[in-house]
Amino acid sequence: MKKLYIETYGCQMNVADSEVVAAILSEEYTLTNTMQEADLLLINTCSVRDHAEQRVRARLRELAALKKGNASLLIGLLGCMAERVKEALLNEEEALDFIAGPDAYRTLPQLISRAQNRENPFNVLLSTQETYDDILPIRYDTNGVSAFISITRGCNNFCTYCVVPYTRGRERSRPPETILHEVEDLANNGYKELTLLGQNVNSYSWRNDKENMDFPDLIAAVASHVPHIRVRFATSHPKDISDKLLHTIARYPNICKHIHLPVQSGSDNMLNRMNRGYSREKYLQRVARIKELLPHCTLSTDIITGFCGETEKDHQDTLTLMETVGYASAFLFKYSVREGTLAAKKFTDDIPENVKARRFNEILTLQQQLSLNSNLKEVGKTVEVLVEGTSKRSNKQLFGRTSQNKVVVFDGGDRQPGDLVLVTIHRCTAATLIGK
Ligand code: SF4
Repeated sequence: MKKLYIETYGCQMNVADSEVVAAILSEEYTLTNTMQEADLLLINTCSVRDHAEQRVRARLRELAALKKGNASLLIGLLGCMAERVKEALLNEEEALDFIAGPDAYRTLPQLISRAQNRENPFNVLLSTQETYDDILPIRYDTNGVSAFISITRGCNNFCTYCVVPYTRGRERSRPPETILHEVEDLANNGYKELTLLGQNVNSYSWRNDKENMDFPDLIAAVASHVPHIRVRFATSHPKDISDKLLHTIARYPNICKHIHLPVQSGSDNMLNRMNRGYSREKYLQRVARIKELLPHCTLSTDIITGFCGETEKDHQDTLTLMETVGYASAFLFKYSVREGTLAAKKFTDDIPENVKARRFNEILTLQQQLSLNSNLKEVGKTVEVLVEGTSKRSNKQLFGRTSQNKVVVFDGGDRQPGDLVLVTIHRCTAATLIGK
C-alpha cells in the first residue's frame, strides 16, 4: 500500500477536511506520520491571512529540496489557498504536481493519476451541493477523546474582510441522518466529546418533504442520541443566536456551556464597514440573554483591530464592549488586507502599522485581565473535567477542559484520557486552572 502524509494548516474545518481526504484515498493509500516515507504528500492550506499563505510558500520551497532526492514523490496542495490562487500556483511553486480546492476532494484519485503522468492537473470548481456527507472521515489527527464533525460548508455572509465565501463557496448543510451516523461511529469508537463545525454552525438548516431541521433541532437530536458524550459547536454568528438555541443548550446537560461568539469590533461604524449584520446594541442584547438563560455559560470571541477607517473612538468602543461582556478568552488579530475581498476593493488599509500594534496590545492586555478575572471565579470550586492527556509541564499531571471550555491542569493519579474527573481548583493563571 502506498504511503500518504498530510500536513494541515489553519482552522478545525481543515482538520476535518484532511480526515475526509484520508478516507477518500484509503483504497490506495495508508497514512504515515513519517514524511520521508511518503509517496504522496498533501498540504491542506489556509488563506485567512497573508501570513498563512507565506508560511505555505516557504514550506513548499523546503519540500522542493525533498523532491530532488525522491523523484517519484507527488506533492498536492489543498484547501483555501488552492481556491484563492488557483492554477497560477502550479507555475509559481515548482514542488507542486497538482492542486484541489475544498469542494474537489472526490476527484483526488483522478488528479493523482494525471499528476503521475506529469500533467499538472487542478480542480478548483466550487459546488453548491458538496458536503462529503456519505464519507466517514479517518480520524488520524486526534487524541482519541475529542473529534470534529462538519455539519455545514461555505458561507453567505460576505463580511468585507473575509476570503471564506470565495474559497469555500455558498453555505450548505448536511442531511441530519448522515451527521447522526457519524456521531454513532464516534460513540462506538470511544470518543467522549464531539464538536459540530461550520463557518456559521448556527445557520444550519435542512429542509425536505419529510424533515425541517434548524440548528437547535439538530443539536438536540445529537445530544439526546449520545447523552454520555459532551457536545460542543463552533463557530456561531451573532445574528443566529436564537432563544430556541439557548433554551436547547439549557435543557441538555451534555451540551457544553460555552459559546464562541465572534464580535470583531465594538463600534457600529466598524461593524457596518465589516458588513457583520448586527449592531453593538444587538450584540450586547444577545449576550445579556445568554447570561440570563445560561448563567454558567462562558463566552469567547474573535476581534480584528486596525480595520480600515478605525478611529480612536471605534477602538475605545471595542475595549468597553469587551469589559461589558467579560470574555473568558478571545482570538485577537490585526487587520491584514486579503486580495479579492470587498474591503480590499472598497476601502484603504489606512491604519499605520504602529497604531495597529498599539491598539492590538491594548486589547491583548485587557483580555488577559478579563481571562484572569474569569478564572479567579473558579478558585475554591470543584469542577468536572474531561481528561484529554498528560500536561506538557509534567508527566505526573493531566490536563483537560471543563464544560465552560476552561483548561485545567491537575495531579491526576491513575486517571486516563476520556475519564470525567471532579477537580478542586486551588489557583489559576489567565490561561489555566490548577487543581487536585
Ligand atoms: S461569517 Fe464572515 S468572517 Fe465568518 S466565514 Fe463568513 S464571511 Fe468569513
